[in-house]
Amino acid sequence: MTNFFQDITDKLKSANIEDPKLEARMIFAFVLNKDANDFYFSCPEITEEDKAAILRIVQKRTEHFPLCKLLGTKGFYKYDFVVNEDVLSPRPDTEILVEAAVRIMNEHGFESLLDLGTGSGCIPLSILGDVKGAKATAVDISQKALQVAKLNAQNLNMENRIKFVQGSWFDEDIVLKLEKKYDVIVSNPPYIPSQDILNLSIEVKNHDPLLALDGGEDGLDSYKRIAQISKEIISDGGFILLESGAGQAQDIEKIFEKEGFMKYKILKDYANIERCVILKK
Ligand code: GLN
Repeated sequence: MTNFFQDITDKLKSANIEDPKLEARMIFAFVLNKDANDFYFSCPEITEEDKAAILRIVQKRTEHFPLCKLLGTKGFYKYDFVVNEDVLSPRPDTEILVEAAVRIMNEHGFESLLDLGTGSGCIPLSILGDVKGAKATAVDISQKALQVAKLNAQNLNMENRIKFVQGSWFDEDIVLKLEKKYDVIVSNPPYIPSQDILNLSIEVKNHDPLLALDGGEDGLDSYKRIAQISKEIISDGGFILLESGAGQAQDIEKIFEKEGFMKYKILKDYANIERCVILKK
C-alpha cells in the first residue's frame, strides 16, 4: 500500500473513527470512482488533484461528519440510497424491520404498505424491491426529506409504486390524507428521549435531523400518536412493525395493545437489543 493510503488510515484512526481502514478504502473508491474492494492490497498512483479531494473528505470525517453524508450515499439492505443532512442516515439495525416486513407481506400476499416518517425512503423502497406487485405510501413531515425519498424512488425505478404524502402524524387531518386501509404499516419514528440527545455521537446529534430523533420526554410520544391513527387505517388482520429504542419494546407493546392491537413478535438487533416490535390487528 502507498504511504498516502496509510497516512489517511492513520488520520482517521487518530480521530477515533471505528473502522479507519474500511473508511479509507471507501473514500478512495469514491474519489477515484472505483470499488472499495480494489483497495484491499494495493493502491494505484494518485494525482495531486485526487489527493486533495481525498484530504478534503478526510478532514470533515475527522470532525465526525458522517461518512455516508460526505459520500452522498449509504448502502442499506440491498440498495444504495442517496442521503443528505435532511434525512436520518439509514442504520443496519433497521434492516431487521425490513426483512420481517418482507416476510410478512410475502407470506400473506399483502400488497399495500404505509411508512410513517420515511426519511430517505430506505424502508419502503427496500420492502417494495422484495415484494412483487406491492405499492407503498410514504409520509414525512419534511418536504426536503421527501425530495430525497423521491430521488431514491426514481433511481430504483419504483416511482410508480410509491406515493409520497407530506404531513405529520400529529396533524388532526393526517388520516384524511391517507385514503385507504393498509395491510402493513411500518415506522422508524423518533424515539430518543429529549434529554438523551446531547449524549449521542456527533455524527447523529449534529447531522441527523432532530425531527427524526427526538421522541419527547420518554421517547414514546410518536408511538402513542401512531397507535391512535394506525387503528383507523389498518386492514383487519394487518400488521404494524415499529423500530424501537433500547428498553422501549414492552412499553410500545402496551401502547398498541391499548388501541386494540395484539402482540405478535419482538425482534432483537445485532447487538441483542430489542429493536423491532411487531403487532397484529
Ligand atoms: N436509531 C437511531 C439512533 O440510535 C435513532 C433513530 C430514531 O430515533 N428513530 O441514533
